[in-house]
Amino acid sequence: MSKKIKLISMVLAALMACAFMAGCGGAGSAAESAAVPTVITTTPSEEPSAEATPDPTATPEPTPDPTPEVTTNLAQLQAKEGYMPPKSLEGIDPLNDKVVALTFDDGPHPENTPKLLDILKENDVVATFFMVGTNVEEYPDIVKRVYDEGHEIGTHSWDHTDLMTLSLDEIMTNQYGKANDAIEAATGLRALIDRPPYGSMSEDMAEQTGREQILWSVDPNDWKKENRDPDIVYDHVVNGTPDGGYVQDGAIVLSHDIHATTVAAYDRIIKALKDEGYKFVTVTQMMQIAEIRGKDIEYRFGHAPTAKEAAESTASGSQSPEVESEE
Ligand code: ZN
Repeated sequence: MSKKIKLISMVLAALMACAFMAGCGGAGSAAESAAVPTVITTTPSEEPSAEATPDPTATPEPTPDPTPEVTTNLAQLQAKEGYMPPKSLEGIDPLNDKVVALTFDDGPHPENTPKLLDILKENDVVATFFMVGTNVEEYPDIVKRVYDEGHEIGTHSWDHTDLMTLSLDEIMTNQYGKANDAIEAATGLRALIDRPPYGSMSEDMAEQTGREQILWSVDPNDWKKENRDPDIVYDHVVNGTPDGGYVQDGAIVLSHDIHATTVAAYDRIIKALKDEGYKFVTVTQMMQIAEIRGKDIEYRFGHAPTAKEAAESTASGSQSPEVESEE
């Protein structure tokens, strides 16, 4: 791939992410303003130019500081003091591995979250937990365990309010900010990513938060009463549903670790997805993979479709974003 094309694909990736969610310069308010990441906006100088760097005819240059093989813009966030660093892509081939991100909302729950952590540990996989601040405050030891065991944490508001009923200041201070205060009290670090309850957030508001607002591409509707059965949850994730979507390379699966029926399904779900060849990644890993892949990723930051989704929906007229469902 030429540098130019690569750059264009990076910019496309950045635009996709920025289109709905990313930190494209939105000024947060008091609580999280210091955290506003200037990521995702692609700065070409950040891109390691594999094609351009080694010039065989040049005299040997002093070896620069060791740099990771792949530097993503997201990785800049690692410099954010006081924040959980995005997980590295070590052990993952971002272009060739088949990846899926499991995400669990609304916890932590005093019994079900530890059970899920046991299952994840036994299967040696990582997941991402979008936590409600009130539960974080109530169960800080579980929050710490989640983080210590290598999983990722995002905020899911303070009290599961529909954020679109609030002002930006209220969201940043009383919801995400307060939830992050509790996460910091439990782990010593703040979370970089959020998921708005019910997926309820306008693109404009998401941009103004200056933080990553992460939705999902697969929704098994495990929270619905009629689906609170491990067999149904298993079926909805592994086999997919027309309404909730299908797991494919790059998917972000939404589930809820507050439900025993969901947790009871996950050992089988993980084993089934492993049998299909999936590797399990966190959301920040998925974001980096998406960035590296450019357009070839299937996940939703809100309403913004990937280029592939846009092409497919133009062709088939299907695929509506799910923002009114969930939790
Ligand atoms: Zn929720």
